[in-house]
Order: sequence, then C-alpha cells, then structure tokens
Amino acid sequence: MKAIYPGSFDPVTNGHIDIIERAAKLVDKLVVAVAMNLEKEAMFETQERVDLLRQACRHLANVEVDYFHGLTVSYARKHEARLIIKGLRAVSDFEFELQQALMNKRLDDGIETMFMMTSAEYLFLSSSMVKQLAMLGASVTGLVPDGVEKLLLEKTKLMQR
Ligand code: ADP
Repeated sequence: MKAIYPGSFDPVTNGHIDIIERAAKLVDKLVVAVAMNLEKEAMFETQERVDLLRQACRHLANVEVDYFHGLTVSYARKHEARLIIKGLRAVSDFEFELQQALMNKRLDDGIETMFMMTSAEYLFLSSSMVKQLAMLGASVTGLVPDGVEKLLLEKTKLMQR
C-alpha cells in the first residue's frame, strides 16, 4: 500500500520524522508531500523544505519526498495512493484534523485518512514552536534534524540583523 504524509514542514521537526519512520514500517511506499499552502507565510522556501526532508529521510529506502499545490486528495489520486497519514498531538489538533479528514472523505470516498499518535516526547513540538525558540535565541538541538538546525540558525541570524 502507498501512503501520502502531507504537511507544511516549515521546517521538518523530529516529531514529523518520528511519524515518518513509524509510518514507513507499515506501508510499502510513503510519499512525504510538502504542501505549498498560500495562506501560511512560510519561513522556508518550498525547495528548502523538500531538501531538508530529503536529507532527514535518507536512511529510509521506501520514503520519497515531493511537493504539491492544491487539494491533498487530488495529489493522492494522481499518485494512486488511497491512504493519507496524519500525526496527532494534543486534543487541540483533533477538531481541525477531523474536519479536514471528513472533507477529504467527501471529496473522494476512496481515500482514507489514518492518524498516528505522537510519541510522548514530541507532544509539545511543532514547527512554529521551533521557529519561535530559534528567534528568541534558545537551542533547538534534539528537536529538529541537524540540517534544519543549521539553516534555522542562519535564517534567524539574518532576521535579527
Ligand atoms: P505543524 O503543525 O508543526 O506546522 P505540519 O502542518 O507540517 O505541522 O504537520 C504535518 C502533519 O504532522 C500533521 O498531521 C501534524 O499533525 C503532524 N505533526 C506535526 N508535529 C507533530 C508531532 N510533534 N508529533 C506528531 N505529529 C506531528
């Protein structure tokens, strides 16, 4: 079975990597798809987000990284994937994710969304938290892959000038 793991990944965190590693064990092929979401003002360019993910997923043979715009279900259909994987953290994620999953089901009844619970150590980890920490000069070591930490520090230094 082929699955899509969509998200902004602005930038990828160790919480995302945990979901990717666990999901990759369950499916034949996992496509991590960076959504070019026009509403969200991103810190990282789409290509940077893709490159950072590719670097962080090098050790996973059945994981591919791509990007898309438009509907997740259209992207999934195009790639003949009938499964969307999403991660769930606290209850606060639930309402939005439920709404999205139900809307996706309405758009395409042949595509299922499955949720994976976060590992406890990543419960409070989000891309926006990581960006905030870096901007305030706090260390993000252990929260993001090495390549992300490096680029994040460079970007925040430039922004603080
Ligand atoms: P964020 O909410 O961090 O901006 P994304 O939009 O990139 O994340 O999220 C992509 C997917 O990864 C979503 O399903 C989201 O719930 C999930 N996710 C994000 N952070 C974590 C985490 N720490 N643990 C588990 N799942 C996560």
